[in-house]
Amino acid sequence: MSKHVIVIGGGPGGYVAAIRAAQLGAKVDLVERDDLGGTCLNVGCIPTKTLLHTAELYQTLKKETQSGLVIDNVKIDWKSLQKRKTDVVNRLKRGIIGLLQANKVTVHKGRAIFQQNRTVRVEGRHPVVLSADIIVLAVGSVPVELKVPGADLPGVIDSTEALSLEKLPASMVIVGGGVIGTELAALYNALGTKVTVLEMMSQILPTIDGQIAAMLRKELSNAGIAFFTNSKLMEIRKTENGLKVRANVQGTEQEIACENVLIAVGRRPNTENLGLEALGIKTERGAIIVDQHFTTNIPWIYAIGDCNGQNMLAHAASAQGIAAVEHALGEMVTYKGYVIPKCIYTNPEVASVGLTEEQVKNQGLPYKIGLFPLAGNGKSLIEGYETGLIKIIADAKYGEILGAHLMGPRVTEIISEVALAITLEATAQDLVSTIHPHPSISEALAEAAHGVFGNPIHWPPGINI
Ligand code: FAD
Ligand code: NAD
Repeated sequence: MSKHVIVIGGGPGGYVAAIRAAQLGAKVDLVERDDLGGTCLNVGCIPTKTLLHTAELYQTLKKETQSGLVIDNVKIDWKSLQKRKTDVVNRLKRGIIGLLQANKVTVHKGRAIFQQNRTVRVEGRHPVVLSADIIVLAVGSVPVELKVPGADLPGVIDSTEALSLEKLPASMVIVGGGVIGTELAALYNALGTKVTVLEMMSQILPTIDGQIAAMLRKELSNAGIAFFTNSKLMEIRKTENGLKVRANVQGTEQEIACENVLIAVGRRPNTENLGLEALGIKTERGAIIVDQHFTTNIPWIYAIGDCNGQNMLAHAASAQGIAAVEHALGEMVTYKGYVIPKCIYTNPEVASVGLTEEQVKNQGLPYKIGLFPLAGNGKSLIEGYETGLIKIIADAKYGEILGAHLMGPRVTEIISEVALAITLEATAQDLVSTIHPHPSISEALAEAAHGVFGNPIHWPPGINI
C-alpha cells in the first residue's frame, strides 16, 4: 500500500519534496498558508533577481560608450519594473500549481498545526484534519528583527518591503552587509539611490572567501556604495526630511540621514506556533534539529530547508526535500551537503562552492591556490569586464579540488562546473584537461586550475596576480 506524506510549507523545499514523494508513489498532501513558491518565489530569489537583471542592464547601457551603440536618455520606469517582477513571479507560480496538479498532489490552503497521533490540523477557509505516515516540515524562515530604538518607525523596512517600494528612494541605509544587504545595495545603487551599508563584522559577506569579498567591496564602492564595516546601528530617529540613523562606525558615532532604513541582519527558522513543543520535537535556537537524513528526533517527522537552519538557500532546501522523502520512502539517497554553490547576484556576480581559503587554513589542510584574473579572459573583456578573479583551491598532494571562489560576469552559471568537479572528486588536472570553448568565461576556470601547478597560459610569469 502506498505511504501517505504530508508536507507543510510550499516553498522550494516543500513543493519539490511533495513532487518527489508523488513520483515515488506516495499519496501527498501539501499545506501552504500563503502563496505557493514560498519566500524564494514570492519575496526572495526570483523578485530580487528580476529587479537586479534590469539594474544590470541599466548600468551597462548607461556606461556603454565603447560597443558601437548610441543610447540616449536611458531611464528607469520603476512601476513597469515592478509589474515585470510580478509577471515573472506569477508565471512561475502558475508553473508550480500545474506541476503539483500533474503529480496529483493535493494542496490545502491554510495554516498547519501539529496534533497528536500523526495528525495535522489545517486552519483556514476549509479547515481539515489530515493524518499521514510521514510528515515533512518545510516551514522556512523569517527576517531577524533588530531591537534598537526607532526600528518600528515608518520607512524602516525588511527585504520583503524593499522589493515593493512605491517609489525609488533618494537614499537608503542598509543594516547588514550579508547576502541580502549586498544584493539590495547593488540594486538600489544601480538605480540611483544613495546607499550606505553598515556591517558589524570586519568584512562584508563574512561567510564568503575574504579575497573575493574584498574585491567585490572595492567594485561596489567604486560604483558608489558607501560600506562601513565594524559598524553597528544604535538608533533611528524621525526627522522633518525622513529618517536619521545614529551608528557606531568603527568606534566613532556618526549620523546618516536617509529616506529608508533596510534591516537585513539575517533570517531565523520559522518554527513558532506549529505545535512542535507538544510533540517534543527538539530545536536549537529555533532551528529544528535533524540528522543526516533530515529526520527529527521523531523518526517519521523530517525537517528540510530554512527551518533546520543548515543552509538558507533555495537549492539546498529543494535538495534536502528530495533527500528526505527518498529516505522516508526507502529509496537510495545521494545528497551531498558539502557541495552547495553560493551565488551573489551583484554586478559583477560572485559564486563559490566548497571550502574557502580561511576554512582550509583553519582545518590545517595542505593546499595550493590557482588564480586567474579575468583581465586575461577574452570573453570577459568583450562583455566589458576588466576586473574579476577565478580562485581555485586544491589539495596540495593530489590536486583534488577543495573549493572555488569566483567574481565576474556569469560566474553564477559556471560555478556548476566546479560543483560537478567536486562531486566527482576531480582534480585541478582534470579541469585543465577538460577542453573549454573559446571565447568563454569558463576558459578562465581551466586557466586558474593551471595556476595550481605554476602559471596559467594567458598570464605572464613574474607578474603578480
Ligand atoms: P520558504 O521558501 O520560506 O517556504 C516556507 C513556506 O512555508 C512558506 O510559503 C510559508 O508560508 C509556509 N508555512 C510556514 N508555516 C506554515 C504553516 N504553519 N502552515 C502552512 N504553511 C506554512 N536563496 C537562493 O538560493 N538564491 C537566491 O537568490 C536567494 N535570494 C533571496 C533573496 C531574499 C530577499 C530572501 C529573503 C531570500 C533569498 N534566498 C535565496 C533564500 C531562499 O528564499 C530560501 O532559502 C528558501 O526560500 C527556503 O526555502 P524553504 O522551502 O525552506 O522555505
Ligand atoms: P546574512 O547572514 O547573509 O547576513 C546578515 C549580515 O548582517 C551579516 O553579515 C551580519 O554580520 C550582519 N549583522 C548582524 N547583525 C548586525 C547589526 N546589528 N548591525 C550590523 N550588521 C549586522 O543574512 P541575510 O543577508 O539577511 O540573508 C538571509 C539568508 O537569505 C542568508 O542565509 C542567505 O543565504 C539567504 N539569501 C541568499 C541569497 C542568494 O543566494 N543570492 C540572496 C539573499 C538571501
